[in-house]
Amino acid sequence: MEAMTAEEIVKAVGGTLLSGNPETVIEHICIDSREASEGSLFVPIIGEKVDAHKFIAQVLDHGAAGVFMSHGDVIDSDKVHILVKDTVKALGDLSAHYRRKFRMPIVGITGSVGKTSTKEMISAALETGFHIMKTAGNQNSQIGVPLTLFRMEAGQELAVVEMGISEFGEMENLVRFVEPDVAVVTNIGEAHIAQFGKKENTMREKLKIAMNFTEKQRIFLNGDDPLLRQAAGTMKCPVTLFGTSEECDYRAENIHIEDGKNCFTLVYPEGREDVVIQQLGLHNVQNALVAIAIARHFGIEPAVAKRGLNEYAGIPMRQQINHLLHGIKVIDDTYNASPASVKSGVDVLMQLDNPGRKIAVLADILELGDASWQCHYDTGMAISEEKLHMVVTVGQEMKALAKAIIDSGAGIAVCSVDTNEEAIQWLFENVSDGDAILVKGSRGMHEEEVVKALREKY
Ligand code: ATP
Ligand code: MG
Repeated sequence: MEAMTAEEIVKAVGGTLLSGNPETVIEHICIDSREASEGSLFVPIIGEKVDAHKFIAQVLDHGAAGVFMSHGDVIDSDKVHILVKDTVKALGDLSAHYRRKFRMPIVGITGSVGKTSTKEMISAALETGFHIMKTAGNQNSQIGVPLTLFRMEAGQELAVVEMGISEFGEMENLVRFVEPDVAVVTNIGEAHIAQFGKKENTMREKLKIAMNFTEKQRIFLNGDDPLLRQAAGTMKCPVTLFGTSEECDYRAENIHIEDGKNCFTLVYPEGREDVVIQQLGLHNVQNALVAIAIARHFGIEPAVAKRGLNEYAGIPMRQQINHLLHGIKVIDDTYNASPASVKSGVDVLMQLDNPGRKIAVLADILELGDASWQCHYDTGMAISEEKLHMVVTVGQEMKALAKAIIDSGAGIAVCSVDTNEEAIQWLFENVSDGDAILVKGSRGMHEEEVVKALREKY
């Protein structure tokens, strides 16, 4: 982060300097008391369980230069104490001020699934020509996005920022902080359907990423997503569609697997290019297409951008293929789950070239609210069209998916268990040489336990 004085910060957030020298230099902003050091400004967040204001004394004692606070007393009058109404809002306001110090364009990424994956692919493509800053991991929230923006520094040429929302009104905030120049919407699915209600509402909220766009900015939309394709005609800024359907500006043709890799021909307005990526599944072809399209928007030709994508090795816990003993392959997709990503996980499983059976271990998709039973059931119906051999469901919600598979009459064996321990035991008793196993579930289901057990055994 580039340094700011306490005075500048007070002005940017409309706060009150209760104590400390206004000339104090702040070189680092943090919300975790353990990260605070000399030059840090600690921002205490009031959480459901803990009010981090209780760490203020300790943080100042360890050398931090100052703190935000929304209540309480000055603890060390030599140090900067800035009183604000709401520390989270002040963090956002400060990030908006900080972002405006830089002229570098920002690519903002939103969508129901695939934001992190797409962010990484776009970064891999852009890194072939630019020095970039990108969101670390999955820091895409009302707190994560400001922290990301504070990592902007002189010398960087472009930034790629993941923007996640789960409530109405959140995108307006994120847009105010980020002021993106280019936007990507990966797809519109059931994620956070409990909060947004209909998919159309979800889409409206996500498209607000381009709410301030004019002729000068551009939005990239997944042309294979029916809702987004329709919305393309209603945007007031230029639109680029990517996907496999005819109307897409960046289109993939001849998609096939070769040597375990995803290969396709990119067709774009000015030419064609053969592309090879390490990640399987149609969704990863879509992610690669938008990565190339964005690289080209910034002047990197597809022939160059594709080299970055070719080398890109993927992200842990997202459809990572583990090659274990006895030819057993395990797809670790345990980071999170939504209906769309269960389907894309099964796609990857089906594309694996293995002599044995295809087994899907699927744990509950959480946060679907009243739509949960139906979403699980519909997902079950959708995946029953694949030539799976067995599905092991873990948890209560997944019983609806199990029922759909049985109702479909597709002849896929189904076993439903309540815990990961039972799933592990079932696998140990049933897995044979050459089997391929997809392991997937929402974050709260901790399916990484199943992957760990399989890796230890095989
Ligand atoms: P979060 O809301 O947790 O930030 P995200 O939108 O960042 O999620 P990822 O973490 O990239 O999504 O991916 C979630 C899962 O969906 C992974 O299993 C990933 O492989 C898969 N996936 C990635 N891209 C897509 C896509 N375009 N469509 C469907 N599934 C995808
Ligand atoms: Mg993410």
